[in-house]
Amino acid sequence: MKSMEFKRLGKSEVEIPVLGLGTWGIGGFSSRHLGGEEDAVRALRLGIELGMSFIDTAEMYASGHSEEVVAQAVSEARERVFIATKVSAENLSFERVLRSCESSLKRLKSNYVDLYQVHWPNPRVPITDTMKAMEKLVTEGKVRNVGVSNFSVQQTREAQEALSKIGLASNQVEYSLVERSIEGDLLPYCGKEHITVVAYSPVARGNIAHGGRDERWRKLDDIARKYAKTRAQVALNWLIARQPVVAIPKAANLQHVRENAGAVGWNLSREDYDVLSATFS
Ligand code: NAP
Repeated sequence: MKSMEFKRLGKSEVEIPVLGLGTWGIGGFSSRHLGGEEDAVRALRLGIELGMSFIDTAEMYASGHSEEVVAQAVSEARERVFIATKVSAENLSFERVLRSCESSLKRLKSNYVDLYQVHWPNPRVPITDTMKAMEKLVTEGKVRNVGVSNFSVQQTREAQEALSKIGLASNQVEYSLVERSIEGDLLPYCGKEHITVVAYSPVARGNIAHGGRDERWRKLDDIARKYAKTRAQVALNWLIARQPVVAIPKAANLQHVRENAGAVGWNLSREDYDVLSATFS
């Protein structure tokens, strides 16, 4: 197994890889468009072998089929893999959270999930109801850590306050070299509160690798050349250099999986880090 770097999840004792594996589109996009399972399982297994033993999925991905593909991929390695899944915004009432979790566990063929995340906030359901259910699941051993996704600072604070027995472990939000909105308030807030930021779309859905050729991209290419790395590797390394951030690139292509794994084990210099930050701000 290749060496990986780890960060503490929230304030917990758990260490998670700085790079995980996204699964949106893995196993299909909806119940009507399923497929590609064998390739997906191969890609996830390679990712695990390369140290990215943190898989992010959701009950809504491929209408639950993504979780089934994850189960296949980890069938020989469940204990070695940190599995994060998500409950959808329409299922945030107390009863529905419990029901959704049971269904996810069945599809994941596991009796626990490492991180259970609220996929999107839902203003129609009090967050206190959702978090009560989350804490019940933790007490029952079905959920090990609780997180949110796409929550603003205010919503994150409310989620924290709604938890009485455990701390909020993470907030999964979009963050990449080219999507920097969270730097204004959410990223500093999570840093201060020791909430892990799980960066989704970290290679901007492939656009960083295949992006433009203007001055900004030429600077990225120059820096990539200097370190003998690719654009995606530099962009991921830049992301995980921030203290609370881990990233979950999705790659079905084996070459992409290998390439992404090569984003760890080295560091951009402070100067190059700052140049990239300023160039893409
Ligand atoms: P992403 O990881 O930034 O990009 C995935 C796309 O980039 C795929 O088309 C992939 O191609 C390509 N790619 C990956 N590595 C590459 C490389 N080294 N070189 C060139 N292309 C590369 O975007 P994402 O899938 O939107 O985000 C990642 C994960 O975050 C998702 O899969 C999901 O788990 C999670 N997510 C969560 C939310 C949320 O609301 N919480 C929203 C969006 C995403 P191949 O597949 O062909 O390799």
